Amino acid sequence: MSFYEFKINNRMYVKSDLFDNSRITHGFTSKLGGVSHGKISGLNLGFRVGDDKKSVLENYNLVSKDLSFDLNRAVLSKQTHTDNIRVVTESDMGKGIMRDSDIEDTDGLVTNIQNVPLVIFAADCTPILLYDKANSVIAAVHSGWRGSVKGIAPKCIKLMKEVFGSNPKDIIAAIGPCIGPCCFEFGPEAIHIFSSEYRKQKPDGKYMIDLWAYNRDKMIEAGLSDENIDISRICTACNADRFYSYRTHKDKTGRLAGIIMLRKTG
Ligand SMILES: [Zn+2]
Repeated sequence: MSFYEFKINNRMYVKSDLFDNSRITHGFTSKLGGVSHGKISGLNLGFRVGDDKKSVLENYNLVSKDLSFDLNRAVLSKQTHTDNIRVVTESDMGKGIMRDSDIEDTDGLVTNIQNVPLVIFAADCTPILLYDKANSVIAAVHSGWRGSVKGIAPKCIKLMKEVFGSNPKDIIAAIGPCIGPCCFEFGPEAIHIFSSEYRKQKPDGKYMIDLWAYNRDKMIEAGLSDENIDISRICTACNADRFYSYRTHKDKTGRLAGIIMLRKTG
C-alpha cells in the first residue's frame, strides 16, 4: 500500500491505493491549482480563513469534478478540535457548502448512506479517512493533536462498531498529509501528554511529536490491522509549497480537505 499523486490540469491530490475500490471515492487535496488569491492563493477549501466565499465555492466545484462527487450532497461540519462525531443522515446533505452547517463542535463524520461526500479540513492537523469494506461505512476525522489525544480516531472506530456493527478488522484507514515528526514541535508539557515513544527531546528542552505513529497505534489498539493503515508521510510544513501549513504560514493559510464518499450502486 502507498499513497500516490493524482493530477488533473494544474491541481494535485494524494490518494491511498488501499482505498482504490470501485465502491468509494476519496482524496486529500493540496493547495496546487484553484482560484484563491493572495497569501492563501491556491485551492483553499476553508470558508473561515478570510478568503472570498466565491473563490472557495469555485475551488470546491473544481474538486467535486476532479474527484467525481456531487457538491450539493456534501457535508461539512464546524470543526473545533473536539472528539465529537456525527452520524450523518440524508437531512444533513449540503450542510456547510450549499447552506450553513448546524453541525457544530464536530470533528468526525460517519455515514453508511451512498452518494454523500464527507469533508473534513485541515492545515497541519491530521486528516483520517476510514472505510469498513464489509458493511460499507465511511468516516472522515479531523485529528489535530488535541483530537488525537482525545482519541477521536479510536472513538470513531468504536462508534462504527456500535452503530453499524463494523468489525475493526474490516476497516481500512488513510492518514493524509499533515505535520510530521520532523516539524511538529511541542513544549516541555509534552511529557505529560505524549508517552515516550511519540516524543523526542531536543537540546532546548522542547519535543518533536510523531502524530502519524500516535494515530496509527491508537487505531491498532482499537482493533485495526497495521497493514490496513496507510500513512501518507507527507509533512505539510516541509512541503508548504504544495500544502497549506498553519505552522508555516501562521494565520494566513488556507485549508486542505480529506474527502470520502460511498458510490451509488445499483
Ligand atoms: Zn516536516
